Amino acid sequence: MSKLNASHDPALRSWVESADAADTDFSIQNLPFAAFSRQGEPIRIGVGIGDQIVDVSALSEWFDGDARAAARACAQPVLNCLMLLGTPARQALRAALSEMLSTRQVKNAAKVRDALYGQDDVQLHLPVRIGGYTDFFSSIEHAENAGRLFRPNAPLLPNYKHLPIAYNGRANSVGCAMEIARPAGQIRVDGEDKPCYLPSQRLDYEVELGGYIGTASQPGRPVQVGDAWDYFFGFSLLNDWSARDIQAWEYQPLGPFLAKSFATSVSPWVVTVDALVPYRVAARDRGPEAPTLLPHLHDAADRVAGGVNVSLELHVRSARMVAEGRSPMLLSQGNASTLYWTFAQMLAHHTSNGSAVDAGDLLGSGTVSGADRGAWGSLLEITRGGADPLILPTGELRTFLADGDEVVIKGFCERQGFARIGFGQCRGVIHSVAARA
Ligand code: MN
Repeated sequence: MSKLNASHDPALRSWVESADAADTDFSIQNLPFAAFSRQGEPIRIGVGIGDQIVDVSALSEWFDGDARAAARACAQPVLNCLMLLGTPARQALRAALSEMLSTRQVKNAAKVRDALYGQDDVQLHLPVRIGGYTDFFSSIEHAENAGRLFRPNAPLLPNYKHLPIAYNGRANSVGCAMEIARPAGQIRVDGEDKPCYLPSQRLDYEVELGGYIGTASQPGRPVQVGDAWDYFFGFSLLNDWSARDIQAWEYQPLGPFLAKSFATSVSPWVVTVDALVPYRVAARDRGPEAPTLLPHLHDAADRVAGGVNVSLELHVRSARMVAEGRSPMLLSQGNASTLYWTFAQMLAHHTSNGSAVDAGDLLGSGTVSGADRGAWGSLLEITRGGADPLILPTGELRTFLADGDEVVIKGFCERQGFARIGFGQCRGVIHSVAARA
């Protein structure tokens, strides 16, 4: 169980000066993991601090017990080994790094500096070997906005308030690569009888939060909502790229398939459940007319602290904006605290039939959309299915993404009386199908 402790103290400062900037994502209260490499060296696990990354396994001899074992596991190219050591080891490592990097231990600076690299001088990689990927549909505003395009009078299907809807995604589609090749697929153009095989013309993003499982569950033993948080290791930003024209033709009756399996982007940083403790908030109020939940999806403590206050921003920049030296345009800002279903409910539902989850599995929240247009997490919603184009600062129109468009998700947590922590960025640039050859 993760609790508030000395590592969350807002007065804590680091001798890594960039970690003390008010707007940094990687304050000493965060300590997120990433997989990194330097030219010609193997990939290993590091921890972000300010604009630097700490090569954790290089520090293992300075630590004892659980923290030393956890630091040694960071010599691996993915976090799965650290996950298998369990929650106490992860928390011992967090405590040891917090101490080592704080101004209270400024004498450590000399020995740690050799294990410290500028984030601009390393390459970041997918930090987890992902065995299973499931994407949920946990934002009721997103479900209503998307449903309204197909069923104006009854946007929500009857099951929505009874269980967290999801589909099994494709684990090997998840990555941190910048380049996203425009998918091609079977598409039925409006007004035509027959489909054609074409590059998608309705390519979209979905702003999501992804939760990594760190502790496996047992087959035949459903995870209880009240225990579910203990199974999570940490969270990343997630972009569930979606080809709406392929999706519209293929999705009935079994749900998304090729419309989403070509690429899913995650941010390279994993913010741990321990770092998120100060930003746990009440689960969203289900409202007066919500049906009573079945017992296996309800937990009183989860209603009190099952939400997470993570702001999620979506920025876009066209190739012409880059050429003209323009900054990316902020298209939306939402918050994961508005999700109708909590991550604990998602995991409880996921395992409620007796199926198990494994360390390294990834659960996407589904598109995070809020009540207002400024908080809608996909172009499908913002442009109302392409009917209402948006105008970029160059005067270019967009209904869906064009080749050369760069899409950036940023995420951060802020709370009065606590340090700001951030998730870094989840970035992707659309390339034409031809560029893939
Ligand atoms: Mn999605």
